[in-house]
Amino acid sequence: MRRIHRRDFIKAGAAGLALAGMAGCASLPGSGTQARVAVVGGGYGGATAARYIRMLDPSIEVVLIEPNEAFVSCPISNMVLGGFRTMADITTPYSGLARYGVRVVRDTATAIDMARKQVLLARGNPVGFDRVIVSPGIDFMWEALPAMGSPDSQAKVLHAWKAGPQTAQLRQQLVAMRDGGVYVLSVPLAPYRCPPGPYERVSQVAAYFKAAKPRSKIILLDENANITSKGPLFRKAWADLYPGMIEYRGGSRTLDVDVRSGTIKGEFGDQRGDVLNVVPPMKAGAIAAPYITANRRWCEVDWLTFESKAVKGVHILGDSLQLAPLMPKSATMANGQGKVCAAAIVAMLNGQAPSGAPTLMNACYSMVSDKLGIHVTSVHKYDQNSRTFRTVPGAGGVSAAMNESEGLYTMNWARNIWADTLM
Ligand SMILES: Cc1cc2nc3c(=O)[nH]c(=O)nc-3n(C[C@H](O)[C@H](O)[C@H](O)COP(=O)(O)OP(=O)(O)OC[C@H]3O[C@@H](n4cnc5c(N)ncnc54)[C@H](O)[C@@H]3O)c2cc1C
Repeated sequence: MRRIHRRDFIKAGAAGLALAGMAGCASLPGSGTQARVAVVGGGYGGATAARYIRMLDPSIEVVLIEPNEAFVSCPISNMVLGGFRTMADITTPYSGLARYGVRVVRDTATAIDMARKQVLLARGNPVGFDRVIVSPGIDFMWEALPAMGSPDSQAKVLHAWKAGPQTAQLRQQLVAMRDGGVYVLSVPLAPYRCPPGPYERVSQVAAYFKAAKPRSKIILLDENANITSKGPLFRKAWADLYPGMIEYRGGSRTLDVDVRSGTIKGEFGDQRGDVLNVVPPMKAGAIAAPYITANRRWCEVDWLTFESKAVKGVHILGDSLQLAPLMPKSATMANGQGKVCAAAIVAMLNGQAPSGAPTLMNACYSMVSDKLGIHVTSVHKYDQNSRTFRTVPGAGGVSAAMNESEGLYTMNWARNIWADTLM
């Protein structure tokens, strides 16, 4: 019934789209009048959407475009810095998606041509589509830190805010640092990817220093006035587990970096360090630039379909979004958005209306040592009056205290979301 309905829809109203989709698939064998969705970016948003479209309607062709051979997870990557997990632990191959019939093209999208309904690629032939999902994560606003503009500076002062080679390199810098050295982490004003991420990071580095370099210090220069997530829990963890090791400086804006002397130039003075870890301000991933509508940084969407407010037929997910109130830029959120978007696209391609009442949940776990974890959760329900997601009062909350059970839940959460996204 559903397939017939969708075919009728395609024949009657969207034949042009289907033909355009086929026109661009010289490198991908044709498939009759089958609808095709192209997905740019195989992270938490994109890979989830690709997998769920195929699960919900296997008659829809899905092509996922992603340059990396395997997915490296930001969640749990801070534990690699602490030395408690390896890069292999946070890496998942894309091969699992083949089981659902998702076709993975290893390439970089360079542009999306809406006139021809094609994703243009750096190396291969264009990929045609009926609808396209864009989930490229974030890019950095290097212009905010003038001296960090050069590749040489960026190779020396790391962000490690996209898990991958920089995660391993920052771990090496920490291992090479002398006992008694200073590690400085600079955090931009919110919104940024993963609100509790910086505070988990210094906890993990502290756990490593406590065991291996106990005379060392950590300075957290936070442009935000205060810790942006789970503040009391992090402060208690630092006081109980790492007394005197972590110095938190709220309201500390980084203006630039003197890479040669290892100095962060701040609004209220300079701070030298042996290892500098500078996380620049962020904006939507570059390929999503044509869809940026908010503050010249983020993309607004219709929350029922995740369709761009700027360009019809383009759906945007994850960290590139201008988020709804109190909605974090998190993997859990991107994964949930991927499912809502998948269901909406399947409905639309079948000539049906998308759900008018989607609900999203968020869970952000943080490890404050090798074994102890904490969490924050929230529930976000679509509100028809304001046409955005609103948090459900009383649903969700934070851990009562750090403990080992929370540490186990953290790892279970990670394994579950990796499976739900990629396996
Ligand atoms: C240190 C750290 C810890 C974190 N911990 C947690 C946590 O515990 N829990 C949690 O929920 N969240 C956590 N996060 C946040 C989480 O990683 C992000 O919110 C999530 O990855 C967002 O998903 P996304 O799909 O928007 O982007 P990503 O997952 O980054 O995926 C984007 C993908 O798009 C690809 N891409 C980009 N441009 C192109 C292009 N032009 N062509 C093709 N492909 C492209 C990239 O290669 C990448 O694979 C953490 C983040 C960090 C930095």
